[in-house]
Amino acid sequence: MKARSVVALTGAGISAESGVPTFRGGGSAVWKGMPFDQISSARMVRENLPEVWEWFDYRRGVLRDCRPNPAHFALAEWKRRFAEFTLVTQNVDDLHRAAGSDDVIELHGNIQRSRCTRCGKSFDIAGIVPHEPDRCDDCGSKVRPDVVLFGEMLPYDAFETAERMARKCDLFFVIGTSALVYPAVGLAEIAKHHGAFLVEINPEETPMSDVCDVTIRAKAGEFVPLL
Ligand SMILES: [Zn+2]
Repeated sequence: MKARSVVALTGAGISAESGVPTFRGGGSAVWKGMPFDQISSARMVRENLPEVWEWFDYRRGVLRDCRPNPAHFALAEWKRRFAEFTLVTQNVDDLHRAAGSDDVIELHGNIQRSRCTRCGKSFDIAGIVPHEPDRCDDCGSKVRPDVVLFGEMLPYDAFETAERMARKCDLFFVIGTSALVYPAVGLAEIAKHHGAFLVEINPEETPMSDVCDVTIRAKAGEFVPLL
């Protein structure tokens, strides 16, 4: 395969192979009697930020035991393999960075960062549980998780860059995501529309499978390093 510009979009599946719970669906979707989409919402940030932090610090505590898997490490190498490589993720767990990818486009933010609710300054809180600092050291306002919550828009810059790369790439990988979450699914469609070859790597059939040119039924951690 001789591709000049390559994009890989990753989702929950690649993280699940590192033991990261998806926190959607199943038993973990409720926190203190509150459904996931309620505790992780823009409204909760306004109404009860300490509770939001309790939930996110809990999740960050779970992540302390999670390490990148061979798929994360292989993708970190792809930057050297292709003339142009763009890594786009829907995951917030920071595992791509932990594996050595330093310019990941994070569509949903990053759980290991906090952000000032007033001036927007961000803080690296990787490994600090509970989060610290609690307030912005510039303006003194409260900080919140730097994650896209229910009721919020995707970060404009991140999505715009991802969209631009999807338009110009000739090879687009959809890895470990059903891409059901809009607008991520739109990226694959944009790539296809502009002539890219679409490859899906997922142990299960997804709504993307029919759209992709090649579908590989495999775990990312087992297959991506072989590519
Ligand atoms: Zn601030």
